Amino acid sequence: MSQNYAAGLSKYKHKGVLGLKEIYDNDAEMKRKVLELSKLMQSAKHVVLHTGAGISTAAGISDFRGPKGIWTAEKKKQKPAPSKPFSEAIPTFTHMAIMELVRTGTVKFVISQNIDGLHIRSGLSMDHLAELHGNIFMEECPKCHTRMLRKSPAPTIARKKTGGVCGTTGKRATPCRGELIDNVLDWCSPLPETDLSSSEAHSRAADLNIVLGSTMQINPSGELPLKAKARDPNSKFVICNLQKTKFDDDADLVIRAKVDDIFRGVMEHLALSVGDYKPEQDPVLAISCERIPLSRNLVQPPVELLPQPKVNKRKTTLKSEPPQQDKKKLKVEPKDDGAMNEIEIDPKPEPTLF
Ligand SMILES: [Zn+2]
Repeated sequence: MSQNYAAGLSKYKHKGVLGLKEIYDNDAEMKRKVLELSKLMQSAKHVVLHTGAGISTAAGISDFRGPKGIWTAEKKKQKPAPSKPFSEAIPTFTHMAIMELVRTGTVKFVISQNIDGLHIRSGLSMDHLAELHGNIFMEECPKCHTRMLRKSPAPTIARKKTGGVCGTTGKRATPCRGELIDNVLDWCSPLPETDLSSSEAHSRAADLNIVLGSTMQINPSGELPLKAKARDPNSKFVICNLQKTKFDDDADLVIRAKVDDIFRGVMEHLALSVGDYKPEQDPVLAISCERIPLSRNLVQPPVELLPQPKVNKRKTTLKSEPPQQDKKKLKVEPKDDGAMNEIEIDPKPEPTLF
């Protein structure tokens, strides 16, 4: 469950803005905004989704910074709200809708901060999914770099040895026998390079970036949806989140509603039907042994959308680069009324946030 996940991470005190109140648009406002989002999705050529913990709360998995979030409870020294074990959670309506949107080509790429594996379990094409913080149902071999999909959640997190051994055979048909590690990042783990570079390329190429269920406080994930605006100010950026974010003023549209309600409306407007989750189509449940090797080929954005592609070779971790020592950094803090307020703080390493 997500509490165990949180407890298994190394100690880190900078958890960001926690426990902001949730705000809901009224019915008429929400319907108008959902129609606007649907029209944006219909007219866009390259739609990219950025998903956070808010899309999995309906599956019974706790978020981190919501009013009942894990980090919020930790700050208040309260017991966190109950959360389902990852093995018992199933994809939500939004997960199933996203799978259908990708299958029909309406959405070109999905970038997720979630480690719960629900995107893959919905049947979403792995070639169209970047999981920037890892996946609890995956392992990796540090020796031959094979990724494995597990039938059950990994027994460890933070890229530790799971006890599994790599059975991949090379040219000589001898097993690799590398000691497998879990795929879930710790605070300072480097982000998976392939997933990150594809995410940057798609975010920059998108004419519509949509954030779902995230307060966008973690870097670099939180900054990706704004990449396209820097390339083309006419590109659109939409936030669907119940809590305010520091990027609300940069967004073309902000919808305050539960993502399942938003996507019920969107799918209706787009005349797309969403099937129920089917366990027999869940690739995790389809594994007959303990684990299977995976191969994937992450799709890249069309070249014409990136006339001058840049390959980012820097090593990026969840921890931001320390700010210049002679500069002060702006930080977002909530005011008494819950509104966001930027304040200057002394230079120190920026928080790294799940
Ligand atoms: Zn191996």
